[in-house]
Amino acid sequence: MENGNGVHKKWGFSANNEIESVPGITIRGILNNLMNSRNPEDERPIIPLGHGDPSAFPCFRTTRIAEDAIVDSLRSAKFNGYSPSIGILPARRSIADYLSRDIPYKLSPEDVFLTAGCTHAIEIAMMVFARPGANILLPRPGFPYYEACASFRKLEYRHFDLLPEKGWEVDLESVEAVADENTVGIVIINPGNPCGSVYTYEHLKKVAATAKKLGILVIADEVYGHLTFASNPFVPMGVFGSIVPVLTLGSISKRWIVPGWRLGWLVTSDPNGVLKETKVVDSIIRCLNISGDPATFIQAAIPRIIEKTTDGFFSKVITILRKSAEIMYDQIKDIDCIICPHKPEGSMFVMVKFNSTLMEDIDDDMEFCFKLAKEESLIILPGTVVGMKNWLRITFAIEPTLLQDGVLRLKAFCHRHAKKYVRH
Ligand SMILES: *Cc1c(COP(=O)(O)O)cnc(C)c1O
Repeated sequence: MENGNGVHKKWGFSANNEIESVPGITIRGILNNLMNSRNPEDERPIIPLGHGDPSAFPCFRTTRIAEDAIVDSLRSAKFNGYSPSIGILPARRSIADYLSRDIPYKLSPEDVFLTAGCTHAIEIAMMVFARPGANILLPRPGFPYYEACASFRKLEYRHFDLLPEKGWEVDLESVEAVADENTVGIVIINPGNPCGSVYTYEHLKKVAATAKKLGILVIADEVYGHLTFASNPFVPMGVFGSIVPVLTLGSISKRWIVPGWRLGWLVTSDPNGVLKETKVVDSIIRCLNISGDPATFIQAAIPRIIEKTTDGFFSKVITILRKSAEIMYDQIKDIDCIICPHKPEGSMFVMVKFNSTLMEDIDDDMEFCFKLAKEESLIILPGTVVGMKNWLRITFAIEPTLLQDGVLRLKAFCHRHAKKYVRH
Protein backbone atom coordinates (compact mmCIF):
# COMPACT_ATOMS: atom_id res chain seq x y z
CA MET A 1 0.00 0.00 0.00
CA GLU A 2 2.71 2.44 0.98
CA ASN A 3 4.63 1.49 -2.09
CA GLY A 4 1.59 2.25 -4.22
CA ASN A 5 1.23 5.67 -2.68
CA GLY A 6 4.89 6.32 -3.26
CA VAL A 7 4.50 5.59 -6.96
CA HIS A 8 1.39 7.77 -7.18
CA LYS A 9 3.31 10.57 -5.56
CA LYS A 10 6.19 10.20 -7.99
CA TRP A 11 3.80 10.40 -10.93
CA GLY A 12 2.05 13.47 -9.62
CA PHE A 13 -0.99 11.94 -7.92
CA SER A 14 -1.79 12.46 -4.29
CA ALA A 15 -3.20 9.60 -2.22
CA ASN A 16 -6.76 10.63 -3.16
CA ASN A 17 -5.82 10.52 -6.84
CA GLU A 18 -5.85 14.26 -7.49
CA ILE A 19 -3.41 15.25 -10.23
CA GLU A 20 -1.33 17.82 -8.43
CA SER A 21 0.36 19.51 -11.37
CA VAL A 22 -2.86 20.15 -13.30
CA PRO A 23 -5.41 22.65 -11.97
CA GLY A 24 -8.77 21.08 -11.18
CA ILE A 25 -11.22 23.71 -12.33
CA THR A 26 -11.39 24.51 -16.05
CA ILE A 27 -14.14 25.71 -18.36
CA ARG A 28 -14.01 22.52 -20.39
CA GLY A 29 -14.05 20.29 -17.32
CA ILE A 30 -17.09 21.98 -15.78
CA LEU A 31 -18.97 22.12 -19.09
CA ASN A 32 -18.42 18.38 -19.57
CA ASN A 33 -19.73 17.70 -16.07
CA LEU A 34 -22.77 19.88 -16.73
CA MET A 35 -23.47 18.07 -20.01
CA ASN A 36 -23.26 14.74 -18.21
CA SER A 37 -25.70 15.82 -15.54
CA ARG A 38 -28.59 16.52 -17.93
CA ASN A 39 -31.55 14.21 -17.65
CA PRO A 40 -31.24 11.59 -20.44
CA GLU A 41 -35.03 11.32 -20.54
CA ASP A 42 -35.44 14.96 -21.51
CA GLU A 43 -36.21 14.83 -25.21
CA ARG A 44 -35.59 18.51 -25.83
CA PRO A 45 -32.25 19.43 -27.38
CA ILE A 46 -29.47 20.69 -25.14
CA ILE A 47 -29.11 24.45 -25.39
CA PRO A 48 -25.44 25.27 -24.99
CA LEU A 49 -25.03 28.74 -23.52
CA GLY A 50 -21.83 27.70 -21.80
CA HIS A 51 -19.06 27.91 -24.35
CA GLY A 52 -18.06 30.29 -27.09
CA ASP A 53 -18.01 28.12 -30.18
CA PRO A 54 -20.92 29.01 -32.47
CA SER A 55 -19.37 27.22 -35.48
CA ALA A 56 -21.97 24.44 -35.39
CA PHE A 57 -24.87 26.81 -36.10
CA PRO A 58 -25.65 27.37 -39.80
CA CYS A 59 -26.02 31.14 -39.36
CA PHE A 60 -22.45 31.31 -38.04
CA ARG A 61 -20.83 29.26 -40.76
CA THR A 62 -17.55 30.76 -41.86
CA THR A 63 -17.08 32.43 -45.22
CA ARG A 64 -16.71 30.37 -48.37
CA ILE A 65 -13.61 32.43 -49.11
CA ALA A 66 -11.84 30.97 -46.09
CA GLU A 67 -12.96 27.42 -46.88
CA ASP A 68 -11.73 27.73 -50.48
CA ALA A 69 -8.40 29.12 -49.32
CA ILE A 70 -7.89 26.05 -47.13
CA VAL A 71 -8.94 23.60 -49.84
CA ASP A 72 -6.61 25.14 -52.41
CA SER A 73 -3.75 25.31 -49.97
CA LEU A 74 -4.19 21.64 -49.14
CA ARG A 75 -4.59 20.58 -52.79
CA SER A 76 -1.48 22.43 -53.91
CA ALA A 77 0.60 19.76 -52.15
CA LYS A 78 3.13 22.50 -51.35
CA PHE A 79 2.38 22.57 -47.65
CA ASN A 80 2.66 18.97 -46.57
CA GLY A 81 5.93 19.55 -44.75
CA TYR A 82 6.92 21.01 -41.39
CA SER A 83 6.84 24.78 -41.10
CA PRO A 84 9.52 26.86 -39.37
CA SER A 85 8.68 26.97 -35.66
CA ILE A 86 7.87 30.70 -35.86
CA GLY A 87 5.51 30.14 -38.83
CA ILE A 88 5.83 30.66 -42.57
CA LEU A 89 6.71 34.13 -43.86
CA PRO A 90 3.68 34.90 -46.08
CA ALA A 91 1.32 34.23 -43.18
CA ARG A 92 3.41 36.31 -40.77
CA ARG A 93 3.52 39.14 -43.27
CA SER A 94 -0.22 39.16 -43.84
CA ILE A 95 -0.94 39.15 -40.10
CA ALA A 96 1.55 42.02 -39.64
CA ASP A 97 -0.27 43.99 -42.35
CA TYR A 98 -3.69 43.09 -40.93
CA LEU A 99 -2.81 44.32 -37.43
CA SER A 100 -0.97 47.39 -38.77
CA ARG A 101 -4.24 48.73 -40.21
CA ASP A 102 -5.41 49.81 -36.76
CA ILE A 103 -2.23 51.13 -35.11
CA PRO A 104 -0.07 54.21 -35.73
CA TYR A 105 3.11 52.32 -36.79
CA LYS A 106 3.86 49.41 -39.05
CA LEU A 107 4.47 45.91 -37.76
CA SER A 108 6.96 43.74 -39.61
CA PRO A 109 6.72 39.99 -40.20
CA GLU A 110 9.49 39.63 -37.58
CA ASP A 111 7.04 40.87 -34.97
CA VAL A 112 4.63 38.01 -35.68
CA PHE A 113 4.84 34.44 -34.35
CA LEU A 114 2.27 31.89 -35.43
CA THR A 115 0.66 29.66 -32.84
CA ALA A 116 -1.88 26.85 -32.70
CA GLY A 117 -4.74 29.19 -31.78
CA CYS A 118 -4.73 31.94 -29.19
CA THR A 119 -4.62 29.23 -26.52
CA HIS A 120 -1.12 28.33 -27.63
CA ALA A 121 -0.15 32.01 -27.70
CA ILE A 122 -1.24 32.22 -24.04
CA GLU A 123 0.83 29.15 -23.22
CA ILE A 124 3.92 30.64 -24.87
CA ALA A 125 3.42 33.98 -23.13
CA MET A 126 3.20 32.28 -19.72
CA MET A 127 6.20 30.09 -20.54
CA VAL A 128 8.34 33.07 -21.58
CA PHE A 129 7.87 34.91 -18.29
CA ALA A 130 7.93 31.94 -15.94
CA ARG A 131 10.94 32.29 -13.68
CA PRO A 132 11.38 31.82 -9.95
CA GLY A 133 9.97 34.76 -8.02
CA ALA A 134 8.25 36.45 -10.97
CA ASN A 135 4.55 37.21 -10.93
CA ILE A 136 1.93 38.21 -13.48
CA LEU A 137 -1.33 40.13 -13.03
CA LEU A 138 -4.54 38.53 -14.26
CA PRO A 139 -8.07 39.96 -14.45
CA ARG A 140 -10.87 38.76 -12.19
CA PRO A 141 -13.18 37.66 -13.67
CA GLY A 142 -11.00 36.27 -16.42
CA PHE A 143 -10.15 33.39 -18.68
CA PRO A 144 -9.00 30.51 -16.45
CA TYR A 145 -6.60 29.17 -19.03
CA TYR A 146 -4.17 31.90 -17.89
CA GLU A 147 -4.25 30.71 -14.29
CA ALA A 148 -3.85 27.11 -15.47
CA CYS A 149 -0.85 27.85 -17.70
CA ALA A 150 0.81 30.10 -15.14
CA SER A 151 0.49 27.61 -12.31
CA PHE A 152 1.61 24.74 -14.53
CA ARG A 153 4.81 26.72 -15.26
CA LYS A 154 5.09 27.78 -11.62
CA LEU A 155 4.61 31.42 -12.56
CA GLU A 156 2.91 33.18 -9.67
CA TYR A 157 -0.26 35.07 -10.61
CA ARG A 158 -2.12 37.78 -8.77
CA HIS A 159 -5.60 39.08 -9.51
CA PHE A 160 -6.78 42.59 -10.05
CA ASP A 161 -10.48 43.39 -10.26
CA LEU A 162 -12.71 44.41 -13.12
CA LEU A 163 -15.48 46.79 -12.10
CA PRO A 164 -18.97 45.68 -13.16
CA GLU A 165 -20.53 49.05 -12.39
CA LYS A 166 -17.97 50.76 -14.64
CA GLY A 167 -18.44 48.60 -17.70
CA TRP A 168 -15.97 46.03 -16.34
CA GLU A 169 -13.07 48.46 -16.64
CA VAL A 170 -9.80 47.55 -14.97
CA ASP A 171 -9.64 48.68 -11.34
CA LEU A 172 -6.30 50.45 -11.73
CA GLU A 173 -5.98 50.95 -7.99
CA SER A 174 -6.18 47.22 -7.43
CA VAL A 175 -3.51 46.76 -10.13
CA GLU A 176 -1.14 49.06 -8.29
CA ALA A 177 -2.00 47.43 -4.98
CA VAL A 178 -1.04 43.90 -6.08
CA ALA A 179 1.98 44.71 -8.26
CA ASP A 180 5.50 44.67 -6.85
CA GLU A 181 9.07 44.76 -8.15
CA ASN A 182 8.78 41.15 -9.35
CA THR A 183 5.72 41.77 -11.50
CA VAL A 184 6.49 41.21 -15.18
CA GLY A 185 3.20 41.92 -16.93
CA ILE A 186 -0.52 42.49 -16.88
CA VAL A 187 -3.10 40.61 -18.96
CA ILE A 188 -5.99 42.54 -20.54
CA ILE A 189 -8.76 40.76 -22.45
CA ASN A 190 -10.50 43.17 -24.82
CA PRO A 191 -13.20 42.74 -26.12
CA GLY A 192 -13.84 40.93 -22.88
CA ASN A 193 -14.43 37.32 -22.05
CA PRO A 194 -16.33 36.70 -19.77
CA CYS A 195 -17.80 40.21 -19.52
CA GLY A 196 -18.68 41.29 -23.06
CA SER A 197 -16.98 44.62 -22.36
CA VAL A 198 -15.22 46.82 -24.92
CA TYR A 199 -12.70 49.30 -23.53
CA THR A 200 -12.43 52.88 -24.71
CA TYR A 201 -9.27 54.48 -26.07
CA GLU A 202 -9.03 56.57 -22.89
CA HIS A 203 -9.27 53.58 -20.58
CA LEU A 204 -6.66 51.58 -22.52
CA LYS A 205 -4.38 54.58 -22.40
CA LYS A 206 -4.69 54.64 -18.62
CA VAL A 207 -3.86 50.93 -18.51
CA ALA A 208 -0.77 51.64 -20.61
CA ALA A 209 0.26 54.52 -18.33
CA THR A 210 -0.17 52.34 -15.23
CA ALA A 211 1.91 49.56 -16.79
CA LYS A 212 4.61 52.03 -17.70
CA LYS A 213 4.66 53.41 -14.18
CA LEU A 214 5.01 49.87 -12.79
CA GLY A 215 7.67 48.92 -15.36
CA ILE A 216 5.69 45.97 -16.71
CA LEU A 217 4.48 44.95 -20.15
CA VAL A 218 0.90 44.46 -21.31
CA ILE A 219 -0.28 41.13 -22.65
CA ALA A 220 -3.35 42.00 -24.73
CA ASP A 221 -5.67 39.09 -25.49
CA GLU A 222 -7.54 40.35 -28.54
CA VAL A 223 -8.97 37.07 -29.70
CA TYR A 224 -12.37 38.87 -29.98
CA GLY A 225 -10.82 41.79 -31.85
CA HIS A 226 -13.39 43.58 -34.05
CA LEU A 227 -16.29 41.58 -32.58
CA THR A 228 -17.99 44.70 -31.21
CA PHE A 229 -21.58 45.75 -31.75
CA ALA A 230 -22.31 48.82 -29.60
CA SER A 231 -20.92 52.36 -29.49
CA ASN A 232 -17.33 51.61 -28.43
CA PRO A 233 -15.17 50.63 -31.41
CA PHE A 234 -12.40 48.06 -30.96
CA VAL A 235 -9.10 49.75 -30.10
CA PRO A 236 -6.08 47.44 -30.13
CA MET A 237 -3.70 47.78 -27.18
CA GLY A 238 -0.88 48.01 -29.72
CA VAL A 239 -1.99 51.62 -30.29
CA PHE A 240 -0.12 52.35 -27.06
CA GLY A 241 2.94 50.27 -27.94
CA SER A 242 5.22 53.31 -27.77
CA ILE A 243 4.13 53.98 -24.18
CA VAL A 244 4.60 50.41 -23.03
CA PRO A 245 5.62 47.21 -24.85
CA VAL A 246 2.62 45.07 -25.76
CA LEU A 247 2.35 41.39 -26.59
CA THR A 248 -0.76 41.05 -28.72
CA LEU A 249 -2.44 37.63 -28.75
CA GLY A 250 -5.07 36.69 -31.29
CA SER A 251 -6.40 34.12 -33.71
CA ILE A 252 -8.86 33.52 -36.52
CA SER A 253 -10.97 31.33 -34.20
CA LYS A 254 -13.54 33.92 -33.16
CA ARG A 255 -13.75 36.53 -35.90
CA TRP A 256 -13.84 33.90 -38.62
CA ILE A 257 -15.69 31.37 -36.39
CA VAL A 258 -13.26 28.53 -37.06
CA PRO A 259 -11.86 27.59 -33.63
CA GLY A 260 -11.13 24.11 -34.92
CA TRP A 261 -8.59 25.40 -37.44
CA ARG A 262 -6.13 26.23 -34.67
CA LEU A 263 -4.41 29.25 -36.11
CA GLY A 264 -3.37 32.11 -33.87
CA TRP A 265 -0.58 34.56 -33.24
CA LEU A 266 1.61 36.21 -30.69
CA VAL A 267 2.81 39.62 -31.83
CA THR A 268 5.28 42.10 -30.37
CA SER A 269 3.54 45.47 -30.70
CA ASP A 270 6.62 47.34 -29.60
CA PRO A 271 7.88 50.09 -31.93
CA ASN A 272 10.74 50.95 -29.54
CA GLY A 273 12.17 47.43 -29.70
CA VAL A 274 12.21 46.98 -25.91
CA LEU A 275 11.25 43.30 -26.17
CA LYS A 276 14.09 42.61 -28.59
CA GLU A 277 16.58 44.46 -26.44
CA THR A 278 15.54 42.64 -23.28
CA LYS A 279 15.79 39.25 -25.05
CA VAL A 280 12.07 38.53 -24.66
CA VAL A 281 11.92 37.91 -28.42
CA ASP A 282 14.76 35.37 -28.19
CA SER A 283 12.91 33.67 -25.41
CA ILE A 284 9.69 33.52 -27.47
CA ILE A 285 11.61 31.84 -30.30
CA ARG A 286 13.20 29.35 -27.91
CA CYS A 287 9.81 28.49 -26.45
CA LEU A 288 8.33 28.01 -29.93
CA ASN A 289 11.22 25.72 -30.82
CA ILE A 290 10.15 23.26 -28.15
CA SER A 291 6.44 23.52 -28.81
CA GLY A 292 3.97 22.38 -31.50
CA ASP A 293 3.05 24.41 -34.60
CA PRO A 294 -0.20 25.17 -36.40
CA ALA A 295 -0.71 22.96 -39.47
CA THR A 296 1.36 24.25 -42.40
CA PHE A 297 -1.48 24.23 -44.96
CA ILE A 298 -3.64 26.30 -42.62
CA GLN A 299 -0.79 28.80 -42.25
CA ALA A 300 -0.47 28.95 -46.02
CA ALA A 301 -4.15 29.82 -46.43
CA ILE A 302 -3.88 32.80 -44.08
CA PRO A 303 -2.92 35.52 -46.58
CA ARG A 304 -5.98 34.75 -48.71
CA ILE A 305 -8.28 34.42 -45.71
CA ILE A 306 -7.19 37.76 -44.31
CA GLU A 307 -7.00 39.69 -47.55
CA LYS A 308 -10.09 38.36 -49.30
CA THR A 309 -12.73 38.00 -46.60
CA THR A 310 -15.41 40.56 -47.35
CA ASP A 311 -16.91 43.10 -44.98
CA GLY A 312 -20.23 41.47 -45.78
CA PHE A 313 -19.24 38.35 -43.85
CA PHE A 314 -17.99 40.30 -40.84
CA SER A 315 -21.03 42.55 -40.69
CA LYS A 316 -23.40 39.60 -40.98
CA VAL A 317 -21.80 38.04 -37.90
CA ILE A 318 -21.89 41.33 -36.02
CA THR A 319 -25.56 41.78 -36.86
CA ILE A 320 -26.45 38.37 -35.45
CA LEU A 321 -24.38 38.94 -32.32
CA ARG A 322 -25.95 42.35 -31.75
CA LYS A 323 -29.43 40.88 -32.10
CA SER A 324 -28.78 37.95 -29.78
CA ALA A 325 -27.07 40.15 -27.18
CA GLU A 326 -30.17 42.34 -27.31
CA ILE A 327 -32.52 39.35 -26.82
CA MET A 328 -30.45 38.11 -23.91
CA TYR A 329 -30.23 41.48 -22.19
CA ASP A 330 -33.91 42.33 -22.59
CA GLN A 331 -35.20 38.94 -21.46
CA ILE A 332 -32.92 38.75 -18.44
CA LYS A 333 -34.45 41.95 -17.10
CA ASP A 334 -37.62 39.95 -16.35
CA ILE A 335 -35.81 37.45 -14.13
CA ASP A 336 -35.67 38.50 -10.49
CA CYS A 337 -32.74 36.42 -9.34
CA ILE A 338 -30.40 37.53 -12.15
CA ILE A 339 -29.05 41.02 -12.63
CA CYS A 340 -27.00 42.19 -15.58
CA PRO A 341 -24.87 45.17 -14.52
CA HIS A 342 -23.61 45.98 -17.99
CA LYS A 343 -25.10 45.36 -21.39
CA PRO A 344 -22.65 43.39 -23.55
CA GLU A 345 -20.91 45.43 -26.24
CA GLY A 346 -18.61 42.85 -27.76
CA SER A 347 -17.31 39.24 -27.72
CA MET A 348 -19.90 36.49 -27.22
CA PHE A 349 -20.62 36.64 -23.49
CA VAL A 350 -22.38 38.45 -20.72
CA MET A 351 -21.71 38.21 -16.97
CA VAL A 352 -24.77 38.36 -14.73
CA LYS A 353 -25.10 38.34 -10.97
CA PHE A 354 -27.10 35.61 -9.30
CA ASN A 355 -29.00 36.43 -6.13
CA SER A 356 -29.36 33.18 -4.21
CA THR A 357 -31.31 34.82 -1.37
CA LEU A 358 -34.35 34.96 -3.66
CA MET A 359 -34.21 31.22 -4.20
CA GLU A 360 -35.98 28.50 -2.29
CA ASP A 361 -33.45 25.73 -2.70
CA ILE A 362 -30.40 26.97 -4.62
CA ASP A 363 -27.45 28.21 -2.61
CA ASP A 364 -24.88 29.23 -5.19
CA ASP A 365 -23.92 29.50 -8.87
CA MET A 366 -22.60 25.91 -9.06
CA GLU A 367 -25.83 24.45 -7.72
CA PHE A 368 -27.79 26.76 -10.01
CA CYS A 369 -25.98 25.55 -13.12
CA PHE A 370 -26.09 21.85 -12.23
CA LYS A 371 -29.83 21.94 -11.42
CA LEU A 372 -30.43 23.96 -14.59
CA ALA A 373 -28.60 21.37 -16.71
CA LYS A 374 -30.52 18.56 -15.08
CA GLU A 375 -34.00 20.08 -15.22
CA GLU A 376 -33.87 22.12 -18.41
CA SER A 377 -31.00 20.69 -20.50
CA LEU A 378 -29.67 24.25 -20.55
CA ILE A 379 -25.96 24.79 -20.08
CA ILE A 380 -24.59 27.97 -18.48
CA LEU A 381 -21.14 28.47 -16.99
CA PRO A 382 -20.93 29.08 -13.21
CA GLY A 383 -19.08 32.32 -12.47
CA THR A 384 -16.89 30.45 -9.97
CA VAL A 385 -15.01 28.99 -12.95
CA VAL A 386 -14.04 32.45 -14.18
CA GLY A 387 -13.22 33.73 -10.69
CA MET A 388 -16.53 35.15 -9.44
CA LYS A 389 -18.76 33.12 -7.16
CA ASN A 390 -22.49 33.69 -7.54
CA TRP A 391 -22.16 35.10 -11.00
CA LEU A 392 -22.99 33.35 -14.26
CA ARG A 393 -21.38 33.63 -17.66
CA ILE A 394 -23.87 33.23 -20.49
CA THR A 395 -23.01 33.11 -24.17
CA PHE A 396 -25.46 34.59 -26.64
CA ALA A 397 -23.56 33.40 -29.72
CA ILE A 398 -26.06 30.79 -30.81
CA GLU A 399 -28.86 30.67 -33.38
CA PRO A 400 -31.35 33.39 -32.27
CA THR A 401 -34.39 31.03 -32.21
CA LEU A 402 -32.54 28.58 -29.99
CA LEU A 403 -31.49 31.46 -27.77
CA GLN A 404 -35.16 32.46 -27.38
CA ASP A 405 -35.92 28.90 -26.28
CA GLY A 406 -33.00 28.95 -23.87
CA VAL A 407 -34.17 32.15 -22.25
CA LEU A 408 -37.67 30.69 -21.79
CA ARG A 409 -36.22 27.64 -20.06
CA LEU A 410 -34.09 29.90 -17.87
CA LYS A 411 -37.14 31.93 -16.88
CA ALA A 412 -39.21 28.83 -16.11
CA PHE A 413 -36.39 27.43 -14.00
CA CYS A 414 -35.84 30.61 -12.00
CA HIS A 415 -39.56 31.02 -11.42
CA ARG A 416 -39.92 27.43 -10.25
CA HIS A 417 -37.12 27.77 -7.70
CA ALA A 418 -37.94 31.26 -6.45
CA LYS A 419 -39.01 31.81 -2.84
CA LYS A 420 -42.77 31.94 -2.93
CA TYR A 421 -43.26 35.23 -1.10
CA VAL A 422 -41.03 37.26 -3.36
CA ARG A 423 -42.81 36.20 -6.51
CA HIS A 424 -44.72 38.82 -8.39
C1 LIG B 1 -11.45 31.49 -27.06
C2 LIG B 1 -10.43 32.26 -26.30
C3 LIG B 1 -9.06 32.00 -26.47
C4 LIG B 1 -8.57 30.83 -27.26
O1 LIG B 1 -8.65 31.04 -28.62
P1 LIG B 1 -8.26 29.87 -29.65
O2 LIG B 1 -7.80 30.62 -30.84
O3 LIG B 1 -9.50 29.10 -29.90
O4 LIG B 1 -7.20 29.05 -29.05
C5 LIG B 1 -8.15 32.79 -25.80
N1 LIG B 1 -8.55 33.80 -25.00
C6 LIG B 1 -9.85 34.07 -24.78
C7 LIG B 1 -10.23 35.18 -23.87
C8 LIG B 1 -10.83 33.30 -25.42
O5 LIG B 1 -12.13 33.52 -25.17
